[in-house]
Amino acid sequence: MTKTALITGILGQDGGYLAKLLLEKDYKVYGLIRRYTNPNFENLEYLGIADKIEYVSADMTDEASLLNVIKNIAPDEVYNLAAQSFVGASWDQAKLTTEVNAMGVLFILNAIRYFSPMTRFYQASTSEMFGNASENGIQTEETPFHPRSPYAISKLYAHWMTVNFKESYGMFCASGILFNHESPIRGKEFVTRKITDGVARIKLGLTDEIRLGNLESKRDWGFAGDYVEAMWLMLQQEKPDNYLISTGETHSIKDFLDIAFERVGINDWKKYVKLDPRFKRPAELFELKGKSDKARKVLGWFPKVKFEELVQMMVDADLKRLGNGKSI
Ligand code: NAP
Repeated sequence: MTKTALITGILGQDGGYLAKLLLEKDYKVYGLIRRYTNPNFENLEYLGIADKIEYVSADMTDEASLLNVIKNIAPDEVYNLAAQSFVGASWDQAKLTTEVNAMGVLFILNAIRYFSPMTRFYQASTSEMFGNASENGIQTEETPFHPRSPYAISKLYAHWMTVNFKESYGMFCASGILFNHESPIRGKEFVTRKITDGVARIKLGLTDEIRLGNLESKRDWGFAGDYVEAMWLMLQQEKPDNYLISTGETHSIKDFLDIAFERVGINDWKKYVKLDPRFKRPAELFELKGKSDKARKVLGWFPKVKFEELVQMMVDADLKRLGNGKSI
């Protein structure tokens, strides 16, 4: 029988890659989108799947709309990817971030509990929940959380609520603690895409600078296409559990710049990169590096795309888009 899945945040980066994966596995995919006069389907068009999804209208901040959607569809699986996902904006819009990322999860969990208790639920948790806490520089499922932004705090609430619904009501709720993952359809305000878009523009003579905050920050960056496979695997297990997903490698923003500029034949990038304090976080995370041994052992999941390949893929895609006079 055809499986059904509802993806919230379908128009975002992960929503697109996950929908593509589920369609390849013959799922019927419902995509939850909030009401817009002109919704933006560019990511799904880029992936060639915009017309293969059944769209449903609801908003993570509107409980009744979520109850309705779950009641009407009663999907086999729900992947909750919707979020105000930009950490930097969460200081300025802390209330909105909390309403979407924290309360929205409570609403959708309740909707499943009342109208479709057999639905399996995936929550998009994040390595930001760890803050700077680590054991010898490495984060695992056991590392204590110490969130350092309104975004991370909202996600921690959602994470524990997901655990609590599993423990309180026996629901199949799994949380993926994902480290940063990128792709050619990463939002342009995120530092990786900001760099690759900027590098492509510089190469094409459309600009002569990229403004960035902290070049020393280190992140464990993977490819979104690999990470959505882990989400799916988590919901195929016999028992629900939480898994940390990462590459286990860490690189600085400078490393990212080195590879991105090298890709377009520019070796001295320093004259193009301007430090701008506006892009610094009020509370910085210095290094994120995850150990995903549990996911590798239990789920059989491994990241396939290496860091250098990821950066090059993103630069190439931006060059191609801008060269064609397009930009997402
Ligand atoms: P993204 O590109 O920013 O997508 C987020 C989606 O959420 C957007 O499509 C947005 O819709 C939707 N959304 C926002 N507010 C909503 C609301 N009130 N009601 C319904 N939908 C709403 O994020 P992503 O990179 O794909 O990440 C997916 C999830 O994983 C997020 O929850 C993120 O916090 C989490 N995560 C991401 C990473 C990462 O490195 N990418 C790492 C760890 C965790 P619109 O298109 O209408 O704006």
